[in-house]
Amino acid sequence: MADHSVLLIEDEPDIREMLSFSLGRAGFTVRAAGSAEQALRALDEALPDLLIIDWMLPGMSGVELARRLRRDQRTADLPLLMLTARGEESDKLNSFDAGVDDYVTKPFSPRELVARVRALLRRAGASTDGKFRAGGIEVDSNGRRVTADGAIVRVGPTEFRLIETLIRHPERAFDRAQLLNKVWGRNVYVEERTVDVHVLRLRKALAPFGMDKLIQTVRGVGYRFSTNSEAA
Ligand code: CA
Repeated sequence: MADHSVLLIEDEPDIREMLSFSLGRAGFTVRAAGSAEQALRALDEALPDLLIIDWMLPGMSGVELARRLRRDQRTADLPLLMLTARGEESDKLNSFDAGVDDYVTKPFSPRELVARVRALLRRAGASTDGKFRAGGIEVDSNGRRVTADGAIVRVGPTEFRLIETLIRHPERAFDRAQLLNKVWGRNVYVEERTVDVHVLRLRKALAPFGMDKLIQTVRGVGYRFSTNSEAA
């Protein structure tokens, strides 16, 4: 995993230095920023392979930064790991989690963080053949085909793009606006509840295979593809 680059956004200098050191020793190229504003400037220069964003930042918060990155085509697909303090997760987190791929709760060991970063990079870069697999589902982007435990799942073109978008980032919650952008395109006017209609169709197509529960509703946000039924 050498030569992967990480942009770390953390305002506390001690934690920033400790994490930069640990990630550097683990073989990552690390750039560090002390604020969201600094991070945006760093992103203008070059894109990293992965972002680590502290939830609590002065000025623009980590959550606002995450939302902003997800709205921008250039940064929409970057894997994003959020650092949170104990007590910030649960309900509050759930309502804000659009676009975050993983969380690490403080205090954590650098070793744990490095392991999570590696796992996230593996997930993000998992496909070199245009095929995405999770929870028994395989989406073949080139063949435009969805299979469930090897059996063909009949889906329409919109449902195909929907599941393809979701499965590329397992566990990431997408809000309806993000899904509209990805699936229908930026310049098409469609109401947000259209997303719900197509999610229902997708679940219906997956139901005979017992896999409809992989498409989870994230209350107050939108939807995610998850193999973790407890997260629903
Ligand atoms: Ca902080």
